[in-house]
Amino acid sequence: PPVITVSHVSKTFGSGDAAVTALDDVSLQVAPGEIFGVVGQSGAGKSTLIRTVNLLERPDTGSVIVDGQELTTLSDSALRRARQHIGMVFQHFNLLESRTAQGNVELALELAGTDSRDRKRRASEILDLVGLGAKAGSFPSQLSGGQKQRVGIARALAAEPRVLLSDEATSALDPETTRSILELFKTINEQLGLTVMLITHEMDVVKGICDSAALLEHGRVVETGGLVELISTPGSRLAADLFPLGDATPAPGTTVIDITFSGGSADRPVIAQLARDHSLDVSILGAVIESIGGSQAGRTRLELPGTPAQNAAAVDDLRDQGLLVEVHSADAAGGVS
Ligand code: ADP
Repeated sequence: PPVITVSHVSKTFGSGDAAVTALDDVSLQVAPGEIFGVVGQSGAGKSTLIRTVNLLERPDTGSVIVDGQELTTLSDSALRRARQHIGMVFQHFNLLESRTAQGNVELALELAGTDSRDRKRRASEILDLVGLGAKAGSFPSQLSGGQKQRVGIARALAAEPRVLLSDEATSALDPETTRSILELFKTINEQLGLTVMLITHEMDVVKGICDSAALLEHGRVVETGGLVELISTPGSRLAADLFPLGDATPAPGTTVIDITFSGGSADRPVIAQLARDHSLDVSILGAVIESIGGSQAGRTRLELPGTPAQNAAAVDDLRDQGLLVEVHSADAAGGVS
């Protein structure tokens, strides 16, 4: 079963003329062990969505189930307990300046009711895990942005959550630090088997670490699903715009296959399966949606290792499925001929 289920959640801020609908009938599911991205323009409702997953924001309607527990119906005290199994990382770290790194992590354990000896041990362990053992005694003012975020992540992990939520955790960080924090998310995800739900507006982040994503626009989920599917066979203009075709250079000596697929994404499984079979690097995937003969169609590009002759069987397979396929070989300069 999914570890997070959001069903028909709506949320409006304010009332009358000033009312803003931040979430409009949002439903999505996150499978255990996934890194799930929430993607969209500023104001799309991403932050409100992630804040409803641990009920920092209470939805007007709909339900939120995390780890089998329906949060929307819990009493305040039961909700406080449930939240201990949902870690959250914030854009601006939200650390207590008056406490050391160790102290910030211990505080989370204190709130979770861990006794003092276990608190010390567990906080040290988790600071080691995030690569900050040597800075346990430092105050936030003595730490860089990336180090502060590592404390934020350690604090979120302290009470052994099943789920980690990240609200733009890397937006305040430089590109290099961003990469190291993302690697940390990936490590945590793999080593602890933790499900991660993260918000970002950087598509490189999504391509780099997410397994699945939900694409939000004006408070609505436009599309949700596996990343390979969303990128290779977008079912919406938004997905095609977010992951454009041709923003990566094909590697020399590979086979580049341009495929035209139907607008309704009926061809999605075939193309996604091919991408999976060849463990395609999603950073190379992209698609465009265009109007062909009055109906909407998409064009996607796959890059397979080996020469076109070596990939003849895969190409035949696609043609057998009725897909319009163009095959090129990438030359040493990364050009396509
Ligand atoms: P995103 O994270 O995608 O930028 P948000 O979830 O922050 O989007 O916001 C979605 C919409 O809801 C925006 O129009 C925003 O102004 C509005 N909004 C969010 N939080 C509040 C709030 N506490 N009070 C009033 N409006 C809000």
